[in-house]
Amino acid sequence: MKDTKSLPAGYSPAEKLLEERVILVTGAGDGIGRAAARSFAAHGATVVLLGKTQGKLEQVYDEIVAAGHPEPLILPLDLQYLTADSADELANQLRNELGRLDGLLHNAALLGSLTTVADYSPERWQQVMQVNVHAAFLLTRALLPLLKEAPDASIVFTTSSVGRQGRAFWGAYAVSKFACEGLMETLADELEEVTAVRANAINPGATRTRMRAAAYPGEDPNTRPVADSLMPLYLYLMGPDSRGVTGCSFDAQPRH
Ligand code: NDP
Repeated sequence: MKDTKSLPAGYSPAEKLLEERVILVTGAGDGIGRAAARSFAAHGATVVLLGKTQGKLEQVYDEIVAAGHPEPLILPLDLQYLTADSADELANQLRNELGRLDGLLHNAALLGSLTTVADYSPERWQQVMQVNVHAAFLLTRALLPLLKEAPDASIVFTTSSVGRQGRAFWGAYAVSKFACEGLMETLADELEEVTAVRANAINPGATRTRMRAAAYPGEDPNTRPVADSLMPLYLYLMGPDSRGVTGCSFDAQPRH
């Protein structure tokens, strides 16, 4: 089993931990991404809300503004159709409108089908790999120049326990999470010592979201923690307290 890390014991994020920082969150309209966007904003960050459903992003925007936090930027985008050119355009838009980028949370993902590899639809497989891995690669590639200009930048990938040890019927989702771990490690190794950009991954663990309910329809959602409870680790990795930490895969919840 892969060697993983957890949040330093007793960690408590400073109130203004992310002040002046600009952080892009993919899948910011729902679940863990929504909790992360709100939490980053509450700690002073200007958050770029990227997601598929504009209405959900607008709701998160309204919540952040109503709470008196820095005004976010909304980027409605279906990662299914992200190309190298559209990722470059997005990077140019961020440069023009916000002028900097300090953090990138790759959170959006598709669960895909829960079935055997033998029965997996090739089209579905490709969709999952596009949203979960290829889009993360394209965004990272396009946004690295901006991240490298930041004094202390952090890229966080989202993994899963099935991205560390394969499990029957988890198909493209499991494979995509292995790929995210590999992309994170490769990137971290390339960036270490030559830039101030670090790259790590978080396995949120079983969390009460739409995706969890789809994967485990028979489970009582109330037995799983809400996304807000995971936020100290997300804040730690996005903010200056994790300087020097790179190439690591974290668990947001204790492993059983
Ligand atoms: P949700 O399904 O609740 O949220 C996923 C988010 O990703 C939604 O905002 C969704 O947007 C967005 N998204 C999906 N497809 C696209 C797309 N094509 N383009 C843009 N945005 C898209 O999932 P969770 O919050 O549960 O999961 C967040 C991350 O945590 C994922 O990477 C997941 O794999 C991981 N994870 C979750 C666990 C859990 O128990 N919940 C356990 C382990 C890992 P929209 O709502 O508009 O469709």
